[in-house]
Amino acid sequence: MNLVILGAPGSGKGTQAARIAEQGKIQHVSTGDLLRDAVAKQSPIGKQVESIMAAGKLVSDGIVLQLIRETLTDSDERGKWNGWILDGYPRNLSQAEALEGVLKDVGETVEGVVYIELDPDVIVERLSNRRTCASCKAVYHLVSKPPAVEGKCDSCGGELYLRDDDKPETIRKRLEVYDNETLPILGLYEKRYRVHRVDGSKPIDDVTTDITRLISL
Ligand code: AMP
Repeated sequence: MNLVILGAPGSGKGTQAARIAEQGKIQHVSTGDLLRDAVAKQSPIGKQVESIMAAGKLVSDGIVLQLIRETLTDSDERGKWNGWILDGYPRNLSQAEALEGVLKDVGETVEGVVYIELDPDVIVERLSNRRTCASCKAVYHLVSKPPAVEGKCDSCGGELYLRDDDKPETIRKRLEVYDNETLPILGLYEKRYRVHRVDGSKPIDDVTTDITRLISL
């Protein structure tokens, strides 16, 4: 099944995408993770995007399209999975149209859209308490899901850090970008595809249950 998951930064879309991916043996394609890996490796793309990401702005459409095209046209990878779930892509209307072009080339289509709804105040609280594992990308919340040992990942022992773009001054910027650039995709997708709306304020397991039921996974 080929899915797109939409939601504001901090709505839980990365967490839910990872869970849905695991349950359905679907490839989790997160442009944010691909870009952060590039930054960590200090690859040419990584060097180019580092300061843009830290400021909470969007990286150029061309760079993310290149990453998405490489991923969705990799036939070895395609054979391993029951489809994909796009997390963080598309992020504006022109990316949504560019995605259609890639899908046409590979003869695939979006088969379902999940939209996680959440109040902006809850988002700010969540993101400023979010800590991410530098090695395995597991996500913690200092209040509702703290690690057993402060600063260390429960799963792999990696260092937990506050993403540059989860700093309070950047969160507001990211939400503004989301409202202006990403939210219009919802209107487009409502005309084109089946959009499943879920309440992102529920506990993590309940949101996963709601999504799996809606998409009949
Ligand atoms: P995320 O992990 O999805 O919140 O993404 C983190 C940051 O990566 C964003 O704030 C952007 O700077 C960049 N990014 C991720 N996906 C995209 C995209 N589709 N288009 C442009 N920039 C992106």
